[in-house]
Amino acid sequence: MRTLTSWLPISPDSDFSLHNLPYGVFHTGDGKARAGIAIGEHIVDLATAAEAGLFGKRRFFKKIFEQNTLNEFIALGKPVTNRVRQKVLTWLTQVAAPENAARLLVERRKATMLLPVRVGNYTDFYSSIEHATNVGKMFRPDNPLLPNWRWIPVGYHGRASSVVLSDTPIRRPWGQILLKDQETPVFSPSRQLDFELEMAFVIGKDSPLGTPIAVDKADEYIFGLVLFNDWSARDIQRWEYVPLGPFLGKNFGSSISPWIVPLEALKPFRVKGPKQQPAPLSYLQHGSKGGHNFDIALEVGIRGEGAGTETIVARSNSKYLYWSMAQQLAHHTVNGCNVCVGDLMASGTISGPQSGTYGSMLELSWGGKEPIRLNDGTTRTFLLDGDTVTMRGWAAKGGLRVGFGEVSGAVLKALD
Ligand code: MN
Repeated sequence: MRTLTSWLPISPDSDFSLHNLPYGVFHTGDGKARAGIAIGEHIVDLATAAEAGLFGKRRFFKKIFEQNTLNEFIALGKPVTNRVRQKVLTWLTQVAAPENAARLLVERRKATMLLPVRVGNYTDFYSSIEHATNVGKMFRPDNPLLPNWRWIPVGYHGRASSVVLSDTPIRRPWGQILLKDQETPVFSPSRQLDFELEMAFVIGKDSPLGTPIAVDKADEYIFGLVLFNDWSARDIQRWEYVPLGPFLGKNFGSSISPWIVPLEALKPFRVKGPKQQPAPLSYLQHGSKGGHNFDIALEVGIRGEGAGTETIVARSNSKYLYWSMAQQLAHHTVNGCNVCVGDLMASGTISGPQSGTYGSMLELSWGGKEPIRLNDGTTRTFLLDGDTVTMRGWAAKGGLRVGFGEVSGAVLKALD
């Protein structure tokens, strides 16, 4: 990989390096949404860049980049989106600052981010074998990993309406809860509010109803990735999940990070996934030998209300996922189910093999039995009102860094 340099000062620690160039939607107080590409502490304003003729077809691209979501842009297809990415890279890597530099750049701290895509459908998988085994041990001690788990990339259809942008506060939900040793449920605010450390991919191409996406064609349909916090109410979930799976314990809020990292930026960080035993059915077998997982370091921090410092409670990595994104998408569509531009497919909680790598409070506190200690001296089994949960993710290798920024959210007390 050649080292890229820019006339624009970019810290080597920045998530938003020349190799990344993630897409987002923002405004600067005037309420006018625009698409942008993050670079270091700045954003390249794509609407203004289009007006300046950076991509040709000025009026066409200006209109595309003045939308309040990226859906129309993404739907143009990878040959176009990758050409835009290349034009921005060329503009940033000229020897000297171009004379339109000040006009095209916005300071990131002055921008308000918006939800980058209109999410039509959201699916959540359950692709970490460590997470599925840990949860299984707590919910069904005799039978932790169900017999279908190593055959099927298990998932459920979630709720797109409650996918929110990072920094949106999350209200503690009310629901039905069966308390210990009781036979009838109570109606109460959740006492076991949790986060789930996940990554999600954004669909970049429509597929026709009735036509499966082959596992080795899946990358054509994956536009990019974001960080994903699938807020969960464990007590509501435990009472409702049999017989039809997650429902109100999950659909009160899921948060995503504002910048979509394109799949192309993650190419240097592809790694092999865990060995799959037994070998999956043929429609789930990767034809190519290359890495189908991504080496993306992940961390979760909790800061209590009024506490000065955050405590990192978990460090994980997306490379632990048993089922790859390509296998998830092949399985999702094998029956002919179609996908649409902007659909969101989340991985499921990403836990690693050791206790510090677990991606939920449920696992970190082992069902509430082993409280964890924060830097401010307080302890947690599940989340308290006022807690802010922040997830970060980055890939780094030989001086290259491609990061996701963060997804953050604070817990609001339940409605009276
Ligand atoms: Mn989940």
